Amino acid sequence: MKVSVIGASGRVGKAAAFCLAEENSVNNLVLIARKESIDKVEGEALDMYDALAAKDVNVKITASYDFEDVKNSDIVVLSAGQPRSSGMSRMDVAIPNAKIVAEYARAIAKFSPESVILVVTNPVDIMTHVALKASGFDKHKVFGLGNHLDSLRLKNLISQHFNIHVSEIHTRVMGEHGDNMVPIMSSTSIGGILLKYFKGYDDFDMDRTVEKVKNAGNYVIKKKGATEYGPAFAISNIAMIVLDDEKKILTVSALLDGEIEGVEDVCLGVPVKLGIDGIERIIPIIMTERERKAFLKAADEVKTKTEEVMNAIDL
Ligand code: NAP
Repeated sequence: MKVSVIGASGRVGKAAAFCLAEENSVNNLVLIARKESIDKVEGEALDMYDALAAKDVNVKITASYDFEDVKNSDIVVLSAGQPRSSGMSRMDVAIPNAKIVAEYARAIAKFSPESVILVVTNPVDIMTHVALKASGFDKHKVFGLGNHLDSLRLKNLISQHFNIHVSEIHTRVMGEHGDNMVPIMSSTSIGGILLKYFKGYDDFDMDRTVEKVKNAGNYVIKKKGATEYGPAFAISNIAMIVLDDEKKILTVSALLDGEIEGVEDVCLGVPVKLGIDGIERIIPIIMTERERKAFLKAADEVKTKTEEVMNAIDL
């Protein structure tokens, strides 16, 4: 399987590439950077080769600024763009990043028209829409990382509070990868038992936990300058489900066409079944009235912001 990472000179791109290089199903990895950053990705490739030899992993890694090298990729991870600094919102970088994402999405469509695109650049729900429109791809082939990472963050906090192995926590954050994220606490379970029936629930401060998830990315950025491992492993989770045609359900940013609460023409984090062709199906989910209202608010706000960005870049 061939994977290309665009923005591989960046912190998220290179960390994701390294995670993917270790996977058995990936035997061809392309690290794309701007011409002026080619040394960085060449260095990354050499360093990765050394690490992979220690793990007895054989994978071809190409560092390049030439889009010809992206040809016939099964999946393209798009993480090029300005990150936000501490205190900035994801929207502050929306217009410059939309220009970058649109340009790369067109190049992907030209050089690798059969691939699936996993968008990472923030604000990811808007950038997913930009990539979809600029590439002209079918909606099942373009989706974004956002709420899967938020869901992992929520999973950790629940695991820590209840002192239960993280694998036993089943939870989901939907909506916007941003202030309008909607944690679906009503169907969160531990070992198959709904959270509200689990011992320790009375001491669980739900509102504080949700606030922590909302601020998790910013908090890491404040401490160490950027998020890396979290997004990298979340990208690898999604990419491997696609490449191995696993048919698992993860929350990714996808273009809605009325599948959930009648919401249309906006990319939002929703549960989807993923396989080799990308999104096989958007999975409708039952929400409480409070969750439903929050989801509809997220839809309204992301739609308005998306229109603003699309108009600003004439897409
Ligand atoms: P970074 O370390 O600053 O890397 C940015 C990458 O984008 C570099 O490869 C950089 O190339 C490239 N780039 C910057 N400006 C460009 C331009 N005008 N044209 C082409 N390429 C350009 O940032 P990062 O921490 O990796 O984050 C990358 C993106 O992922 C950001 O938008 C960030 O907000 C987002 N992100 C999303 C999630 C999520 O869950 N969706 C999680 C974490 C981060 P050079 O090396 O040549 O400058």
